[in-house]
Amino acid sequence: MLRIERWATALLVAGTLTACDTAATGPPPVAPVPTAASTPARASAPSRSTPRPKPIAYPQRGAGRWRFAPAGTATAGRGGRLLRYRVAVEQDITGVSPEGLAAAAEATLADPRGWIRGHQWRFRQVGPGQANDFTLYLATPATRDRLCDDVPEGYTSCRNGNKVVLNVARWAKGVPFYRGKLATYRKYLVNHEVGHRLGHGHERCPGPGEPAPVMQQQTLGLHGCTTNAWPYPDGRPYHGPSGQYPDQPPAG
Ligand SMILES: [Zn+2]
Repeated sequence: MLRIERWATALLVAGTLTACDTAATGPPPVAPVPTAASTPARASAPSRSTPRPKPIAYPQRGAGRWRFAPAGTATAGRGGRLLRYRVAVEQDITGVSPEGLAAAAEATLADPRGWIRGHQWRFRQVGPGQANDFTLYLATPATRDRLCDDVPEGYTSCRNGNKVVLNVARWAKGVPFYRGKLATYRKYLVNHEVGHRLGHGHERCPGPGEPAPVMQQQTLGLHGCTTNAWPYPDGRPYHGPSGQYPDQPPAG
């Protein structure tokens, strides 16, 4: 059964990547350069000399060729059915390696607030030539449309059969609702789409100010809830009413 993500909003999330920006210590003192400048600072040219994360770049339409991560070494979870998954990044995407995506996915899936908490599921990342139960793809927007085989809007992510498809545009920029919490949004994205693979459908916000269930379409809107990336945020399963909102992805 095809499950469709339809997420709306505008792309506003520039410049919100978190980074361990540590300014280097300054250079040794040098002879002052005499200038006529007596004003305290130039009003223009804001300097951004601190290092930034390697930017993620991608075309709107990739070629649909993939780089796969090598097999991982650990199994997440202590009980339940084992799901083996591959990790693939579309070749046209730069700034995210398959190994990097695999590490992010593994950290999310192995988190005690994640799906393993119910002891129904375990996860192991396998290599490209190995038998698997699903593949986690990081895809360009147009390739996302092809893999998802749903309404081609290029904005959302999806799960289609054993294809768990993350849209690189969302991975790179997040959504405005998360207000710069890109790392948390990425965990939400993995948990939400993998949650579909586990058989979970959409849920709605249980009440104003409450955390959003992980199966709420948080990319579309929070509807009064607060952001939440986890199916077991405090160790217990957390749900909202079944269903979804009639939200639409942004036009264009
Ligand atoms: Zn969904």
